[in-house]
Amino acid sequence: MINVPKGTKDILPQDSFKWQFVEQKARETAKLFGASEIRTPTFEHTEVFLRGVGETTDIVNKEMYTFLDKGGRSITLKPEGTAGIARAFVENGLSNSALPAKFFYLTPCFRYERPQAGRLREFHQFGVEFLGSHSADIDAETILLAKTFLDKVGIKGVTLYINSIGCKVCRKNYEDALKKYLLDNYDNLCPLCRDRLEKNPLRILDCKNDECKKITDGAPKIIDYICDDCSNHLDKVKTYLDIAGVEYKINPNIVRGLDYYTRTVFEFVSENIGAQGTVCGGGRYDGLIAQLGGTDTPGIGFAVGIERILLLLENTGVQIENTNKVKVYFAPMGEKESEKAFELVNELRANGISADFDHMGRGIKSQFKYADKIGAEFVAVIGSNELSLGEVKVKKMIDGSENTVKFTDFCDFIKKA
Ligand code: ATP
Ligand code: MG
Repeated sequence: MINVPKGTKDILPQDSFKWQFVEQKARETAKLFGASEIRTPTFEHTEVFLRGVGETTDIVNKEMYTFLDKGGRSITLKPEGTAGIARAFVENGLSNSALPAKFFYLTPCFRYERPQAGRLREFHQFGVEFLGSHSADIDAETILLAKTFLDKVGIKGVTLYINSIGCKVCRKNYEDALKKYLLDNYDNLCPLCRDRLEKNPLRILDCKNDECKKITDGAPKIIDYICDDCSNHLDKVKTYLDIAGVEYKINPNIVRGLDYYTRTVFEFVSENIGAQGTVCGGGRYDGLIAQLGGTDTPGIGFAVGIERILLLLENTGVQIENTNKVKVYFAPMGEKESEKAFELVNELRANGISADFDHMGRGIKSQFKYADKIGAEFVAVIGSNELSLGEVKVKKMIDGSENTVKFTDFCDFIKKA
């Protein structure tokens, strides 16, 4: 037997309807906010992620699926959605289109990580990117979109943390102060963070190591270092969130430690799915488009992990209804009966009603068993008696009630049922 690769999963029919539900809510929410779908390739030139995610990140350093194709080009499976969209925005000259450009996407992502609950090697994201506006109201909109989506799928008990990581100018002052503080605690940092200290000190605030956490708890807070412009921007984001009635907490340890990430950063975190508690992460990236060779264009976005959403729904006992079930299942008791069933099945389907009939030549008892298994709402029996009388004996599975209905009236009967 051949198994799926480690860190990947089959999504079987018993679960795929849950995915469809979450994806449907994602599309619905995006539409409410005026965002349109964008689909970019599953793989890109590796360069897109080196520049668009950043060479000092965990993703680029450790997690990418990179290979040479048969033409000798370095190709990478997308580890996240933003960089490819930024590439597409530049390549298609979209900065000349009506701004802001409001995109959403649903995509598989690939990261070579240690698989565990809520952490896979192939996983899926719903995300949005709003490009073209510096205004704080669009930051609040982005956050509100994420919140609306979480509410619509039925997620409860998540906390919204927001922070500002300042701009190019004020972040420099902060980084100097942070580095100085961390150098004094150098010996207690994990090896990875010692390495980060020169390249990307902000990431240390994000380290999951307990010792590092203890140190960063006492570190200078970026919010005390940001300039007046950045501080006003954050205040406006807060004002808009207040107007929308969205609750949040300021958390100085939320960072996106890349040069082109600016100002607003945020996460939605749950206590209900263990260590992998972040279901949504996002922020402003005013430098990204320029970094990929485009006209300087501000942007903000977020990504939600679909697997973590489903895990959270399961852990909090939220039931999702399977709307893919067959409405009417026909149980014919012979060859001629089967032909009649087939005719009625076709009539129902032509009227937009899902229907199916026995393909296995099973006896009546096991036909009912099967109908029950697939969750059919009605079972329509056609035996030789029914056939000669031109009628169907139909049973409503939920309450066991039975009716006898003429073939010619059957479709109408089901429509009204
Ligand atoms: P983490 O700190 O958990 O590794 P991250 O900062 O790497 O998360 P992002 O790059 O911000 O995550 O991705 C956005 C969202 O995608 C995360 O909040 C999470 O819900 C989801 N996600 C990230 N990596 C994985 C993974 N390997 N498996 C499943 N979901 C993931
Ligand atoms: Mg990660």
